[in-house]
Amino acid sequence: MSIVQTDVPMTYGLCHETIAKIAEAYPVCGSRSIGTTAYGREIEAMSIGSGGRTVLFTAAHHANEWITATVLLKFAEELSRAILEKGSVYGIPANLFEENCQIFLVPMVDPDGVDLVTGGTPQGSVQWEKARNLAGNYPAISFPNGWKANLLGIDLNLQYPAGWLQAREIKFSQGYTRPGPRDYVGKAPLTQRESRALADFTRYLDPALILAYHTQGEQIYWKYDDIDVPGALALGQEFARLSGYALAETPYVSGFAGYKDWFIKTWRRPGFTIEAGLGENPLPLNQFDSIYAKNLGILTTAALGLPE
Ligand SMILES: [Zn+2]
Repeated sequence: MSIVQTDVPMTYGLCHETIAKIAEAYPVCGSRSIGTTAYGREIEAMSIGSGGRTVLFTAAHHANEWITATVLLKFAEELSRAILEKGSVYGIPANLFEENCQIFLVPMVDPDGVDLVTGGTPQGSVQWEKARNLAGNYPAISFPNGWKANLLGIDLNLQYPAGWLQAREIKFSQGYTRPGPRDYVGKAPLTQRESRALADFTRYLDPALILAYHTQGEQIYWKYDDIDVPGALALGQEFARLSGYALAETPYVSGFAGYKDWFIKTWRRPGFTIEAGLGENPLPLNQFDSIYAKNLGILTTAALGLPE
């Protein structure tokens, strides 16, 4: 009997409840709040293991990419259970994860936005109407399915201080000059509670590696600017081999101000954006099993690292 529901949209309420249930069922899994949104939802983190290698996996930076939250929750449950039952994950004995890593997961960076897209925020409510007003600036983008931003209309993955001015220039030239469903960078880097909470948490953890889960495209982005990160190419190639996804250079127009960009720039350690699945966001839930299967090798390898 599994705790994580993979056949219904992952609302904030369901995510919150799921984290609590996993933490209750499996003492190896801890949970904490790392911040709150403008509308009072918690941004939550889970942790598994007590080893020396710290890694941080994030998902749902973008509202209509909420299926990635389910991926991380499922992984947290599967790994926690395997540790308790002395089983294995992806053919790897689970005790290796517990002894060698501390895996932190932030499954839903943008809970306010996710609730708009998943129906967690009812149509006609104050939050819904405020978002719809902002969406009115961009009538060509479908509402609410095209919504990626937080509910203040800021794109959280364009909020990080790594080429933020370039991102601003690119997005402004594309017409994203005001708060709305996507691609508005905000007035300055790290002005939003969600991106600030994740940046603070990352500084606090000082992780060896980060993953940022997005949809879609079956691509793995591993570079920022021309920074040479030791070990990143080898890891990226292994992720590509295990998932069947393509290891790719980030397209120039989306090459700045993202979370992985900031991580690579600041730490010079491996940071990856994984664009899971294929199709139009939000991806349909019937892709979940295949997305999860393709990403389990990435998650386990990211946790343990490559053998020296
Ligand atoms: Zn995204």
